[in-house]
Amino acid sequence: MPELPEVETLRRDLSSLVLGEQISSVSVTNLRSIRAHTSAEEFSLPLLGSTIVAISRKGKFLSFTLNPRKGRRFALVAHMGMSGQMRNFAVGDDFPKHSHIRLELAGGSCLVFVDPRTFGQMYLDELDHFEFAASLARLGVDPLNQAELVGQAVERYFQSGVGVKWLMLDQSIICGIGNMYADEILFRSHLRFDRPGRSLDSRERGELACAIPEVLNEAVALRGSSLRDLQYRDVNGAIGGYQKMHLAYGREGQECLRCSGFIERIFLKGRSSFLCRSCQR
Ligand SMILES: [Zn+2]
Repeated sequence: MPELPEVETLRRDLSSLVLGEQISSVSVTNLRSIRAHTSAEEFSLPLLGSTIVAISRKGKFLSFTLNPRKGRRFALVAHMGMSGQMRNFAVGDDFPKHSHIRLELAGGSCLVFVDPRTFGQMYLDELDHFEFAASLARLGVDPLNQAELVGQAVERYFQSGVGVKWLMLDQSIICGIGNMYADEILFRSHLRFDRPGRSLDSRERGELACAIPEVLNEAVALRGSSLRDLQYRDVNGAIGGYQKMHLAYGREGQECLRCSGFIERIFLKGRSSFLCRSCQR
């Protein structure tokens, strides 16, 4: 599932490709990908003739700010779900299977939303007075865009009796972390996934607060992680590079690279957690 680093990579690439472009044609071939709308027309009509004037991100959501020919600016929001990709093609190219939404741009390129598992979606939204998609206000602090607020947000973890991994996955506190980066952050912090937030001592609290932005920034620098299913691809179809740096996620049965232990995989609450019991306490 694309998490913050993968979506930030998309945002950066798209900003250099489609900013200032006008949408000339919209095609929707799977209504599940626009399930917030009652019809393809309701989704498509406001987009036609609109110009992309900004591309922002909060957590795992991408938001295009659109300037219509008439009326007020609005947002086109995209969430990649489990397997969503936002790809850039030339008009006339062969599109991959599961290309559910196509936005043709006046400059001759085509933005394509590809999503085999259809958990992702795109929808139109109002902008709030910060020119941000209104529906994203429910999300907590973004660890890249609001780095100065991460320390305060993490304090909420330390008041809770819930396991620290589940707190990191709660998008209303800090947004953008999913199962994969939670495991990498916990490994770097020497913490088990099920340690209650309020059981952490001051050294552990400090390590966790530092590890969150560190791991995410390092992953952005390597253009995100593509796992064995290769379902994360960038706008040009290339894979990321951070999976080679994973120390916990996906390494079950392998030696811990920090101590003499082994990485274990544990299934809990419908998710896999990867950890080394010898050096994560
Ligand atoms: Zn270890």
